[in-house]
Parts: sequence; C-alpha cells; structure tokens
Amino acid sequence: LNYRNTQFVTSAPDIRHLPDNTGIEIAFAGRSNAGKSSSLNRLCDQKSLAKTSKTPGRTQLINLFKVDEGCHIVDLPGYGYAQVPLEMKEKWQRSLGEYLQKRDQLGGLVVLMDIRHPMKDLDQQLIYWAVESKLPVLVLLTKADKLKTGARKQQLMKIREASLAFCGDVEVELYSSLKGIGVDKLRQKLDAWYHT
Ligand code: GDP
Repeated sequence: LNYRNTQFVTSAPDIRHLPDNTGIEIAFAGRSNAGKSSSLNRLCDQKSLAKTSKTPGRTQLINLFKVDEGCHIVDLPGYGYAQVPLEMKEKWQRSLGEYLQKRDQLGGLVVLMDIRHPMKDLDQQLIYWAVESKLPVLVLLTKADKLKTGARKQQLMKIREASLAFCGDVEVELYSSLKGIGVDKLRQKLDAWYHT
C-alpha cells in the first residue's frame, strides 16, 4: 500500500463511536510520549497527520485514518498520564480491553514503546488482551536512535526474549522516526495484515 495517501477520516470520543465500514483496522497504541504521533507521521511521510501534541488532554480522542479502500489505522489515545483521575483511567482501560477483544475489524495491534522504557504494565496488558483474542502484535521500540548500536541490539534481544512469555504472535522491531529505522519493516507488516 502507499501509506503516503493516508487521510484523516474522523475522531471518535469512544471506541463504540467508530464507523463499522472500515474493512480491516490496525490499531496503534502506546504510552503518552512513546513517539506514536511521530511514528505515524513517518509511516505516512506526512508532517502533521497525527498531531504531536505536548499537552496531555483530558478529552482524548480516537483518530481514524484511511490508508486505502478497506484499510484503516486507528490511533488510540496515549495512556499513562499520571494526572488523569483513576476513575477515567479505569474506564478507558475497560473500553480498550473490550475493543481489543471484540472488534471484528481489527487485523493487528502495533504497540509503541520508548526503547529506554519498554514493557510497562499497561503495555503488557494490551499485548495480553491482543494475544488472548488471537490478534497479531508488533512491538516497536521507538526512538532507537537514542541508544548506541550495541545497546540498541541488546535491548532488542532482551525485549524479544521477554515477549516469548506472551505465547502469541508478538514480534519486536526497532523504530526511529528521526532516522527512519524500521519504517520499511513496519510497512511490510501492515501490508501483510491488510492482506495486500
Ligand atoms: P506521542 O505522545 O506518543 O504521540 O509522542 P510524540 O510523537 O509526540 O513524541 C514524543 C517526543 O519524542 C517528542 O519530543 C518527539 O520529538 C520525540 N521523538 C519521537 N520520535 C522520536 C525518534 O524517533 N527519535 C527521537 N530522538 N525522538 C523522537
């Protein structure tokens, strides 16, 4: 697919408000500041497709993008803000879990993690939910340029090893929006998930 043609479709306050006629959806999730917006922008070669907003909003929206006919990207709100009230966090986690477990359109989950702070609790929870629903997962270790080559490889090995514990289709790759590391691999993976 030509990811450069990706267009914003709509924002939804809730997963239940997503349209149904999306064909195959691939969801992008990650802790706030993990580099999700930058990764999506790089994937699609567009400067501001996904807003790289620095202010952790309370009204976090789900953004839907169309790559091609029947091929969509669902950009889930970042999680892990310390400031968000517990009640809101729990509500969000419940609907996220439901989405990952029940959404028929889902073809795969991309979980973005800062290579220096990977596999936090909620990251693991998302992967667990996805694996439970037989959904393939791609973990992207973002900002890979922040580590030297040796340390980067070591971290990749470590997280790959750790991901075996999920006993599912969980792959781990390096990613850097800044240096373009892993972009081709990400596109190949999405192509496969979209069956194109
Ligand atoms: P989001 O909150 O997950 O959408 O994260 P953003 O994409 O807004 O990025 C968070 C911060 O990390 C910003 O300051 C980005 O400039 C920085 N960042 C994102 N990707 C990279 C990368 O590949 N390399 C480096 N060095 N910094 C990055």
